Amino acid sequence: MHYETIIGLEVHVQLQTKTKIFCGCSSAFNPDNPNVQTCPVCLGLPGSLPVMNRTAFRLSLKTALALGCDIARFTKWDRKQYYYPDLPKGYQISQYDLPFSSNGFVEIDTDLERGETKKIRLIRAHLEEDAGKNLHDESGRGHDSHVDLNRAGTPLLEIVSQPDLRSAAEAKTYLEELKLLLTYIGVSDCNMQEGSLRCDANVNLWVHTDDGQKIATPIVEVKNLNSFRGVEQAIDFEVARQIEDWERTHAKLGDVAKQTRGWDANRGATFAQRGKEEASDYRYFPDPDLTPVTVSDEFFAEVKSELCELPASRRRRYRADLGLSHYDADVIVSQGDHFTAYFEQVAKLCGDGKQAANWLTQDVQRELNSRSLSIDAFPISPAVLGDLLKRVTASQITVKSAREVFDALLAEHEAATERHEVVELSTALAEKIIADRGLAIVSDTGAITAIIAGVIARNPKPVADFKSGKQAAVGSLIGQIMKELKGADAKVVRQMLIDELSKP
Ligand SMILES: [Zn+2]
Repeated sequence: MHYETIIGLEVHVQLQTKTKIFCGCSSAFNPDNPNVQTCPVCLGLPGSLPVMNRTAFRLSLKTALALGCDIARFTKWDRKQYYYPDLPKGYQISQYDLPFSSNGFVEIDTDLERGETKKIRLIRAHLEEDAGKNLHDESGRGHDSHVDLNRAGTPLLEIVSQPDLRSAAEAKTYLEELKLLLTYIGVSDCNMQEGSLRCDANVNLWVHTDDGQKIATPIVEVKNLNSFRGVEQAIDFEVARQIEDWERTHAKLGDVAKQTRGWDANRGATFAQRGKEEASDYRYFPDPDLTPVTVSDEFFAEVKSELCELPASRRRRYRADLGLSHYDADVIVSQGDHFTAYFEQVAKLCGDGKQAANWLTQDVQRELNSRSLSIDAFPISPAVLGDLLKRVTASQITVKSAREVFDALLAEHEAATERHEVVELSTALAEKIIADRGLAIVSDTGAITAIIAGVIARNPKPVADFKSGKQAAVGSLIGQIMKELKGADAKVVRQMLIDELSKP
């Protein structure tokens, strides 16, 4: 007998709009000033009327397109009835039987070394409003509870996956990929500390018995997970708990009602909450205050044209066109769209994707980490780095010299910052550093010949020694020539010098 873990995730994403979904109140995160971002609409006062925020719908549509969903050209709003202190209307405006999008998928990497991927199918993505927040006194002294309605009415996109995930690690990878995609297309900041991305996990088991049966156990929904680590830990905890439960009760799917559990991060355990309501308990019905939404061809095309290249496609392109490994392509794309834009510019300028990837994932990344900088604030522009690496590709300087220039540029920037000055780290400055330090590989034989002639003229004694048969005399001459040339190939110089001295 063995167990298979079955996981489906419901992800709630706060959309990056300035105002709430059905009123003009600010949707900014503002926990320090409770209840200041409210109005009759989001307070649910009688007589107030909601009006849909077009931007919220546009961002949702953009996301659904990026997720490969089918888009419904006609969609409507429904009231989901339940009472809770953070929901003053007594119902949440959501989408029930006609969500604006369905199907779609997220492709995740399951093995970077081997380049194995898996498609996690989506059931639907729909738009709804967020509730407020209940704040309970946890000091143990008082018994006060407060309600903050600043968040009530913030636009939320709910993305529901099929139960295609098979482990806590896969669930985490799925969330990371989804978060990356949402930030690439700019629909959400996905700030988990501020609750912009939250997740409910539906977890159960398939028990594969020795006689070939497959038995599903009851589904448990773990609510409100707000960190990737929390998702992983909660799933692992649930799997162990459900195996124990199965061995004790042998309860199958359908034997007991679906259970809802919370996650206690401090104890590292899930705990039982209310029994999960069935859809019929919510008494959904179409909201009579809001008109249904129809998506015109023009609007559809407009939103589609705003989509940028998605992370999965970028990884593929970097592997196919630039020859990067699965690992390097993943590291670069995971850093976000500004980092990839920087990388692409450097790769294009230097004409060597692998070299650009090495520099970006090692040298640049190391400097960013040690300075706690984002790529936008990195003092060396992609134009300057690209030009520097082009010199390496063209054998004008060595990789070692390029590192020296790179470090020197950063040192210049640091020194200027200390003096409260601004220095432009330009290509010209890099060129000057190369010249001042004599880092250029001299391949121009004319220049080498001129320097050799100069050294011969200034050193009659060693020249005479060599001509009288003392081969060793050439050493001191080469030393002087190399000092002037630096970047040149010593073997070539030696041969040229001997040829010159051997002339009758
Ligand atoms: Zn409002």
